[in-house]
Amino acid sequence: MEDLLRNLVKKNLGKTKLGEVANYIPELDKAKKDALGVYIYNIDQEEFGAGDYDVKFTIQSISKILSLMLAILDNGEEYVFSKVGMEPTGDPFNSITKLETSSRKKPYNPLINAGAIAVSSMIHGRDAREKFQRLLDFIRKITEDETLDVNYKIYCGESETGNKNRAMGYFLKSQGIIEGNVEDALDVYFKQCSIEVTAKNLAKIGLFLARSGKLSSGEQVISTRIATIIKTLMVTCGMYDNSGEFAVRVGIPSKSGVGGGIVSVVPGKMGIGVFGPSLDKKGNSVAGVALLEELSKELNLTIF
Ligand code: GLU
Repeated sequence: MEDLLRNLVKKNLGKTKLGEVANYIPELDKAKKDALGVYIYNIDQEEFGAGDYDVKFTIQSISKILSLMLAILDNGEEYVFSKVGMEPTGDPFNSITKLETSSRKKPYNPLINAGAIAVSSMIHGRDAREKFQRLLDFIRKITEDETLDVNYKIYCGESETGNKNRAMGYFLKSQGIIEGNVEDALDVYFKQCSIEVTAKNLAKIGLFLARSGKLSSGEQVISTRIATIIKTLMVTCGMYDNSGEFAVRVGIPSKSGVGGGIVSVVPGKMGIGVFGPSLDKKGNSVAGVALLEELSKELNLTIF
């Protein structure tokens, strides 16, 4: 397996030239464009890695599946999905257009920014600080890594440049989708996007979902029902507006982020973490997606 991963990293390294590192948030553009790494934890407790799997980067949009887990634990499935839909949009992750024009009157799904900001507002806690601390503790538990923390430079950049996210937050408040304090919801959202992880951490999150919500210790942290909801949304909405093509080509429930990470879940088998900060036009890791496509073919990992 390790040989296969090493070969896939080597073979796809050149594809990092085809994309660009995200630069709309100051500091994100400091990432090394030609970095590429992959890590796998399988259900039999074996682990394999190749390339830059130990390099830290910000989790960004991948945090949206984690805040969704906690929001459902805190509020129940019915409440969460009364405020946020379950449909893919076909629009970019930060699109604002459908918020007002759609008859749906709620964000299409929890993995676009509008939906994710609404979800962050539902996390229980007295204020932004307590809400975020609960989310960070939850993510540390799932990754089995107590050292995870926020990159404060990126957090400041997110907060200072996040005017469109702020606009969406206030719109959601005006519609009653966000019930609490909007600035608290935004602060939790900006901070959760700025948590630093490695591909290895992402592989652990993938393994957690591959085990339907169980830790290595055997503790069931979220119900199999919640795990199923998350995996299904990853298939339909996890790879921005390229989720359909990714499902056909790779066929593994996955979620990407503009920091260059991808978390993938092969149910009952393994969790995969990928890091490659050079992004395609939709915001997905260009070499990371190519690597996953080959890995899926090689090991016949498609769920379809
Ligand atoms: N912090 C980013 C934003 O809201 C998340 C983007 C992403 O990874 O999709 O703009």
